[in-house]
Amino acid sequence: MQVDLDHIFKVAKEAAERSQCRYNVSCVLVDKRGDVVSIGINHWSSNRPKMGRRTVHAELDAIRGIKKMKESNLYAFIYRCGAGGATRNINCCDACKSLLRAYGIEKIFYMTENEEWVRA
Ligand SMILES: [Zn+2]
Repeated sequence: MQVDLDHIFKVAKEAAERSQCRYNVSCVLVDKRGDVVSIGINHWSSNRPKMGRRTVHAELDAIRGIKKMKESNLYAFIYRCGAGGATRNINCCDACKSLLRAYGIEKIFYMTENEEWVRA
């Protein structure tokens, strides 16, 4: 893996800090060369008031941001920022894990609260 993990951490943290949700989560998709392909953050859905507000997960937001689907073998890095900018443990929910796998993204990493990326 040619990915600069410190760089991805910085990108993921900056993205998560933009989230307006109670849990501030980001998902950064990276290609084999280590280039960032898409950045997603969790956010409230806005267009279904009858259904109540829903959280759009960061992973789905990141998938939406992929420009060309010929990208394959992407890595997904998932990060959660807590109060005051502290890093919190995060796991990908089952729905998002299935979604990422459906897009051929098998390599999923989480940032732990000890600030280490671990493979899902
Ligand atoms: Zn999810």
